[in-house]
Amino acid sequence: MTKTERLYYTDCYLREFEARVLRSEPAPNGFKIYLDRTAFYPTSGGQPTDSGTIAGIQVLEAVDEGDEIGHVLPQAPDAEGVSGKIDWARRFDHMQQHTGQHVLSAAFERIGSYKTVSFHLGEDSSSIDLDSDRLGVRQLEEAENAANQVVFENRPVRIFFQPAGKASQLDLRKPTSREGEVRLVEVEGFDLSACGGTHVSRTGAVGLILVRKVERMKGLTRVEFICGGRAHRQARRDFRVLSEAARLFSAALEKVPELISKQSQDLREGIREKDKLLERLAEYQARELWQAAPLIDGRRVVRHVLPAEESSQAKMLAHALAKLPSAVALLGVKGKPTALVFAQTPSGPSEMGSILKQTVTKFGGKGGGGRDFAQGGGLEESRLEEALAYAQALLARAPEAVK
Ligand SMILES: [Zn+2]
Repeated sequence: MTKTERLYYTDCYLREFEARVLRSEPAPNGFKIYLDRTAFYPTSGGQPTDSGTIAGIQVLEAVDEGDEIGHVLPQAPDAEGVSGKIDWARRFDHMQQHTGQHVLSAAFERIGSYKTVSFHLGEDSSSIDLDSDRLGVRQLEEAENAANQVVFENRPVRIFFQPAGKASQLDLRKPTSREGEVRLVEVEGFDLSACGGTHVSRTGAVGLILVRKVERMKGLTRVEFICGGRAHRQARRDFRVLSEAARLFSAALEKVPELISKQSQDLREGIREKDKLLERLAEYQARELWQAAPLIDGRRVVRHVLPAEESSQAKMLAHALAKLPSAVALLGVKGKPTALVFAQTPSGPSEMGSILKQTVTKFGGKGGGGRDFAQGGGLEESRLEEALAYAQALLARAPEAVK
């Protein structure tokens, strides 16, 4: 087994290369091929694989196997000599995010000795975990400012190698356990790290570094960030969304939060007003129904079916009826599902819970309640009237009602 020469180690800007296929073997998604040299960065150290082509065939993934790098392809190339081509847009994006991460991690280290314990470069955003859950907004902004300052200064980013013994004596941001030759990435005057990743050659190429989200976990803070092209695209999306909100309010962008807060307050007040009016309406409606209801055994029995759109008022109406003297409310509500609300004037002679239970047992559905108030539903809409008539018959049969 030979060592794959990692061309990206010394030249992160190499997009095309020539290589020799040493061997190929079947793999779950096709074939895994091994070259004498490659510019493909393999999945490792928090950075995802490069994509691109080898001999014109799409590379599905490059895999780090220690000394060797395996390239997963749907089919094996025919020739021994192949040319490789890196998907440059994807690679450069990864370079921006990864160098941005070094700068941001070093900035957190500088402003408060917060250490980066892990790094993940994702499809949409990246994150670092810091070893403290005590960071506030001020520290985050301070680190973000310091990181962007280093970008503006366009400092050189140098990659060089040192034997492990020598490297461990250098002022590395994080000690390395690597043996043999250690690859070091230096942001001039700001950061020195052992890293195998791909990086831009000057900090200016990172572009803007934006912290997007902060999540506190036990003993850790996860900081989500985006750099360069991602930051630009996100800023544009943010602007579009905000502009749309501002357009809906016919207001300036910066007025939007204030207007949202005012509108939701108005809405809450409006809902309170509406509820008050509905309650008054229920009182009038109750009185009307009560007056028109037949007198049965000295009680006003209101049997009434409400349309589905008045379902939220049924309970209100039942309570309003129960406030009137010697009243019984047997209310049904159409819709899917249907509802039943039964009530009586407190200390009336019936057991509303039991009447409702018996009704749904006979007609289907479920529900129950106490002596003066009960609710349920779920029976067929076409049987509502019948169910209410049945409930009314139960009123008469209730032992307490017998005089
Ligand atoms: Zn790195």
